[in-house]
Amino acid sequence: MSLKNEKICGLINYNEQNITKIKDIDQLPKHIVLETNSTCQLKCPFCEHHSVYSVYPKREMNQLVWECISNIPETYNINICLTDTGEPFLFSRLSELIDILLRKKVTLEILTNGLLLDEKHIKLIANPFLNFKIMVSLDAINSSMLSEIRKCEHSQAKKILKNVSFIKETFTNSGLNNVRLIANILIVKQNLEHLCDIISFASEHSFDEVHMFHPIILFKDILYYSVVSEPEIWKPIINRCKELANKRGLTILCPPTTDYNNPEESSPICPFCWSSTWIMADGSVKPCCKPGTPILGDLVNESLQSIWLGKKYNKFRETMLLNELPSPCARCFFRWESVGRILPNNYHIWDDNATAYELISRCNKIGGC
Ligand code: SF4
Ligand code: SF4
Repeated sequence: MSLKNEKICGLINYNEQNITKIKDIDQLPKHIVLETNSTCQLKCPFCEHHSVYSVYPKREMNQLVWECISNIPETYNINICLTDTGEPFLFSRLSELIDILLRKKVTLEILTNGLLLDEKHIKLIANPFLNFKIMVSLDAINSSMLSEIRKCEHSQAKKILKNVSFIKETFTNSGLNNVRLIANILIVKQNLEHLCDIISFASEHSFDEVHMFHPIILFKDILYYSVVSEPEIWKPIINRCKELANKRGLTILCPPTTDYNNPEESSPICPFCWSSTWIMADGSVKPCCKPGTPILGDLVNESLQSIWLGKKYNKFRETMLLNELPSPCARCFFRWESVGRILPNNYHIWDDNATAYELISRCNKIGGC
């Protein structure tokens, strides 16, 4: 496909102006997902790193990554998210990392399964000079359902729900008021009828936002959980969730519920390529943590800035614009589900339009991972 004047999706005309825009990005990503550690106490069946189908090395971030984070300019506004491939409260040097981040203009996002969200662990991060976003996985509000969905022990599910129930008090007791609380809710068969109850629970326990996702179909087993191929069932429920969240004053992000007119022409672009990067514990830099996405650089050989602005990253952005997607991206719901989250600068890519469920048939055509 020629790079000029080709209509590559329903919403973007790819022309010389857009080619320039590939390079029209900040000198550093605005959002870094940092793999501090890849260890987790759970083995969620849909986890690309810890399910029974996943083989992922256990590791903690190496010295090069420490140096890279230390070298981020102190005046640069940045979101740093821990950790995506594991449970950040298991990171052995968490307090040390907080000390480094305190010297930066950082909002620290912590993505946690909730098992260690107790006072002892919150004290490890507590500092009134950092802004926090705490994102807790909350797929159910009773322990039987939670242990059924996450395939964890009943006692673990109970502990998670207890921690979540006292979350506001725990932060207040630790002297932390600068915290934005986000409930990450997976949309699955097992909790579909209870999604509104989960939103009410989140509201009653002082959460500020709810983010709802379909699990990505990485293994055939996930079809046992996923409802993504039944839009007539999940879409009305998502609409009810939106209404409830709005009524309760909660910010809600959820899969778009409007159909795209012509699925063959629609191909949302992954906004992460323009705003975010993943730094893995070994120093490799990737567009995200999904298995199979390319390594776009390595801190052993280059600085983060030269990777972010370099040829490999730009080539990857170009393939995204040209719709010549590597296979993990071709089947990734995030291109649809990240709508409204982190949009690349100056891009108006798509509105509330999507056909996430049609990816199921694409996945089936491509074959399982
Ligand atoms: S809690 Fe998160 S990192 Fe741990 S197994 Fe579950 S999905 Fe994976
Ligand atoms: S489309 Fe999905 S797999 Fe590809 S870079 Fe974006 S989030 Fe990762």
